[in-house]
Amino acid sequence: MRNPAQGIHHITVMASHPQRNIDFYTQVLGQRMVKVTVNFDDPGTYHLYYGDRVGTPGTIMTFFPWYGAKRGQRGNGEAVATGYTIRPQSLPYWTERLQNLSIPFTTSTRFGETVLTLEDPDGMLLEIIASSKASPVEHWENGPIEAENALQGFHGVTLWVGNLKSSQVLLETHLGMVYVGSEADPEGTRHRFEAVSGGVGSHVDVVERPGKGKGRSGAGTIHHVAMRTVSDDEQQEYMHALFAKGYGVTRVQDRQYFHSIYFRDLSGVLFEIATDAPGFAVDEPETELGKHLKLPEWYEPRRTDIENHVRKITSPEYGITIGNRE
Ligand code: ZN
Repeated sequence: MRNPAQGIHHITVMASHPQRNIDFYTQVLGQRMVKVTVNFDDPGTYHLYYGDRVGTPGTIMTFFPWYGAKRGQRGNGEAVATGYTIRPQSLPYWTERLQNLSIPFTTSTRFGETVLTLEDPDGMLLEIIASSKASPVEHWENGPIEAENALQGFHGVTLWVGNLKSSQVLLETHLGMVYVGSEADPEGTRHRFEAVSGGVGSHVDVVERPGKGKGRSGAGTIHHVAMRTVSDDEQQEYMHALFAKGYGVTRVQDRQYFHSIYFRDLSGVLFEIATDAPGFAVDEPETELGKHLKLPEWYEPRRTDIENHVRKITSPEYGITIGNRE
């Protein structure tokens, strides 16, 4: 029988400007760009992946940057915020870092932990959460932040929904997460679910906002939330179990770095279940991650066209120059 879900594998977000996205996630948040590829369904658009040094599941944030895309709007039926964990002793470091970089943020307390809330360049909510339960990740030693203050992967994700019920059934019954409790939230009532495995990316918060507006997709909105599965066999078990419960679950898609199935919760939130393997070192060595445009073999014959079509992105400090379109 399948194990309970092990928390978050990755979160995928829509963005507008690839260079601005790279500068923010690498230079401000200190994440490593672990893969540059294209959207497999739209090869004229990048798919950028950030994470710890190797892109450990639970640290992976991915973006589809559609150049010039309009901003979306946060609302019910979407994941709206991504939380990263820091060690509690790093709180002064991050407060000062954001101030020095002139990035506005607010401070609040949630389930006893201090939360710094800010927006990324496209307006997605990011939270930096000081947690004594921080679990170690693979530190990117060439990045701008020293190990003791670096982000420690995801704390979790926040969903906004009109009604808790369907999300609760999905998270508890079908994904095996545990209900932690609830507390008042400026938007409504926040309910917390936790993966029993603990560790990186183990929280899903669901804020119930009855009667409030739905989200509208666009730059700065989260496209889907991917949960981890340990193997292809277990993924099959999830697929059959979800199908049997009436979820419109897709067949397995080969995403090159993991294998994926997708389904939508009744609340409207799009979920994925992704395998840990094969990981990002499958098509370039660990030292080279993110430095070259990687294409799946079925797009290799079109490489020149794709390189001429995608926007030029650079990261001189890491020797990265990709794309030819100014
Ligand atoms: Zn995904």
